[in-house]
Amino acid sequence: MISGVKILDSVCKGCVNCIKSCPTEAIRVVDGLVHIIPELCISCGECLRTCREKALGLDEDDWGVLRAYGSPILLADPTFYVQFGSYWRPSLVREALLGVWGVEDLAEEMSVAFDLVAYANCRAIEETPPDRLPLISTYCPAMIRLIRARFPELLGHLIPSESPLEIAALLHRKNKGDVRPVTLAAPCPAKIAMVREPVGRETSIVTHAVSVRRVVRDLLAAGSRVEQDVPALENKRWILWGLRGGESRHMAQFSRRRPLRTLAVSGLRNSIDLLRELELGRLQNIDFVECRVCDLGCIGGIGNAESRFLAHLRLKNLPQKWRLSPEEKRTVEELYESGIWRLEKAVEPLERLPLGEDLAESMAKLKRLKSIYAELPHLDCGACGRPSCHALAEDVVRGDAEMTDCVFKLRDRIASLAEEITNLSKNVPHTLRTRSDER
Ligand code: SF4
Ligand code: SF4
Repeated sequence: MISGVKILDSVCKGCVNCIKSCPTEAIRVVDGLVHIIPELCISCGECLRTCREKALGLDEDDWGVLRAYGSPILLADPTFYVQFGSYWRPSLVREALLGVWGVEDLAEEMSVAFDLVAYANCRAIEETPPDRLPLISTYCPAMIRLIRARFPELLGHLIPSESPLEIAALLHRKNKGDVRPVTLAAPCPAKIAMVREPVGRETSIVTHAVSVRRVVRDLLAAGSRVEQDVPALENKRWILWGLRGGESRHMAQFSRRRPLRTLAVSGLRNSIDLLRELELGRLQNIDFVECRVCDLGCIGGIGNAESRFLAHLRLKNLPQKWRLSPEEKRTVEELYESGIWRLEKAVEPLERLPLGEDLAESMAKLKRLKSIYAELPHLDCGACGRPSCHALAEDVVRGDAEMTDCVFKLRDRIASLAEEITNLSKNVPHTLRTRSDER
């Protein structure tokens, strides 16, 4: 698995602060350096938020190099358009991209793609038997990975819709025949990873991924030469997807039978709690669940430039035209029939590496893991460089750690060695013993 997270070894102090933040126990600190187990990482970005040394960063492509090799097509995440001061309307941002660098964005295609996915989501809900509801949004790739890793029994609830970002790039290629590379400006490691290792399709049509922050900062540094005449954006419904609840709000326009019953949560903890409740069957009479692992939605993504609170304010005040024109409706219905919105393949659970080569060895190692775990103090202190005592027990069984990596076990071992040495020191060879030694 590709994580979208980069480790800067020279900066890491081995302080273990990051290991507790990881929801899937993917981080280890060994020999003073942080490691990420790629099969476990869901690219949520929590470790980047926690690391005070900034030893963890986004594994993005170099925007400067991409620009130097021509004018890339920019597939900018909805959050990108609200990262600038309040006087920067989305159309002004587009003008600046074109005016400063000659870079085109795909806002028109995004308008269509997000309408299409909102429409397809509603149709999927209508076609799903009530006992299999709610369906879960597939917009946040970190959420998909979280479900694959920790809630595999909920995979059947995932709505089979492709990411609208991917669809926008596809539409651009299909409609304009433009085969130039497309670069995603992503707000998070999850969307960067989505480009390199998509879920539900073999490959992504997007070729590169950079952070929203990098493009925003470079654009601001270059100055805002707004000379190009870019038409104002008619449809800005899709930009609301950057905010928790934006997707559900958009979908409400397409519901044919009755008002949709949706739940929208953001933040890792809230999302995990909600998925737990869903797993326990507590969420009755809900049609759709929209989870975003970042606080407030994608505007809380670690790869953004702007304060999420200011971006939230801007999004709230963005003038919206929720009703679709007859022309927009027709386009969406036609594209729906084409099936372009559908994921190409089912989303599979994330397999943890088996403990052994075969079932018998795995069972034996599991037994050993349990007995090692029983011996550990269950304090989950993190001093061993593992996020929990259970993770250490697993690493010991896999041969990646020693029991004495646990400071308490090390202390016990030293105490027993010291006792042994003290006892040994009292030993006198038989030849040197006197009668008084024997007495
Ligand atoms: S990005 Fe998230 S899942 Fe991956 S190592 Fe960091 S905290 Fe863990
Ligand atoms: S909520 Fe949005 S920004 Fe955060 S991980 Fe999910 S897709 Fe990325």
